[in-house]
Amino acid sequence: MFRLSPLRVRVFNTCHLRYRYQYVDKLQARLRIADTAGSLVHNVLCDFFGKLPREERDRERLIAMFEERWAALSPRYLRMEGVEELHDRNLGALQRFAEREDLGAEPFQVEAYVQVPIAPEVILFGRMDRIDEEPDKTLHIIDYKTGSHPGDVDPSQLHLYAIMIERKLERTVSRASFWYLDDGSVWTTALTSSDKKQALAGALATVKDIEREKKFKPNIAPHCAGCPYLYTCDVREEIAQRRQAEGW
Ligand code: SF4
Repeated sequence: MFRLSPLRVRVFNTCHLRYRYQYVDKLQARLRIADTAGSLVHNVLCDFFGKLPREERDRERLIAMFEERWAALSPRYLRMEGVEELHDRNLGALQRFAEREDLGAEPFQVEAYVQVPIAPEVILFGRMDRIDEEPDKTLHIIDYKTGSHPGDVDPSQLHLYAIMIERKLERTVSRASFWYLDDGSVWTTALTSSDKKQALAGALATVKDIEREKKFKPNIAPHCAGCPYLYTCDVREEIAQRRQAEGW
């Protein structure tokens, strides 16, 4: 059985060698300090909307949940350089979120883990941060992003989520959004059935490409600077030279 997720598609399309390290060799990832902070913020928002009754949800409770969880991080992590700055940045993002968003909203689902067959021997799986119900009863998938709006947006992850939800729940997904927590911006798109058809065809083509892949070539580019396998990458010397020459 081949298991595909939006993350696996993204990793494969970014760098085949990283795909091999992550999913074939299953090497230990070296996460950046910002990844830990980002997961914490996601968990806080998911638990805030998923576990607290509406009448207990306010700005103070959201911030208290963040601070409690931050304090429970390992002392080793909390002593790392740059962690205090990350704390302040994420705290600010949640404070602005509380001012801007409806904290009493009742999402249809939060942290929804879904897996569905999309072809014989192919499972598509993933976890969605939040699904809201629109006034017309169609569904709206929301993905929280720590960080600011990147300019260029790749919506393929959202299209794959929509396929999963429609197959699992037999409900129409009409909209999907990225909510960027740092600057409060939202990228949203209406989803058509042709978007979803195209995404499904793309996912199945990626499965074939992965199955055929033998060489797992590296793709050296600025994304290498944030790669959790840079520490062990076969071409890290070449990457270091490129970084110095190109300044990334
Ligand atoms: S460091 Fe760059 S080339 Fe190496 S695995 Fe990661 S993304 Fe690929």
